[in-house]
Amino acid sequence: MCVNNLLTYNFSVKIIQKRNINGCAGYLLADDPAREFCVAAEDPTFFDVFLHEYCHFLQFIENVPKWKDWLNGVDGFNQWLKGREYPKYQVRLFRRKIQEMELNCEKRAVRLVKKYKLPVELDKYVKMANAYLFSYILFEKFRKWPSAVYIDCWEECPSKLKPLSFYNKIENVGKEASALMLKKFA
Ligand SMILES: [Zn+2]
Repeated sequence: MCVNNLLTYNFSVKIIQKRNINGCAGYLLADDPAREFCVAAEDPTFFDVFLHEYCHFLQFIENVPKWKDWLNGVDGFNQWLKGREYPKYQVRLFRRKIQEMELNCEKRAVRLVKKYKLPVELDKYVKMANAYLFSYILFEKFRKWPSAVYIDCWEECPSKLKPLSFYNKIENVGKEASALMLKKFA
């Protein structure tokens, strides 16, 4: 059903027999004409990633008014990470847009897991999502992506999704999780 839906909207669906694709477990490219849905089949969290990227697709097709705005945040933040300069407030705004988009995506994922009883360990999924949402604070602080920042930092994270403001302070993660995450940037 998911794949049919993607094909209907002219997405190329790629399930690649690799652990990652250029360091990424999956991605959704929704720009015309290169619409692409891609997930690494050998990632240990393959199904979770598939679900997450599918929820980005749902954000796109439901034409969430914020979709374009969110993508501006993604583009701006990526440009900044690559060295383009922006005022500090602008970088913060980019980062917040991404967190808003990702939180919306994770909420959709949790709803789908519950509705269709999908084979996802919800407690673990949400903890990892929380770690991921937090990690944007660190991407901004250190101006870089660490590889797989949240992979082993999720256990101490909350098992419920929180309001957006919660993700904007590293203190909110708790001591153990934040210490683990900070190590990734050393
Ligand atoms: Zn995402």
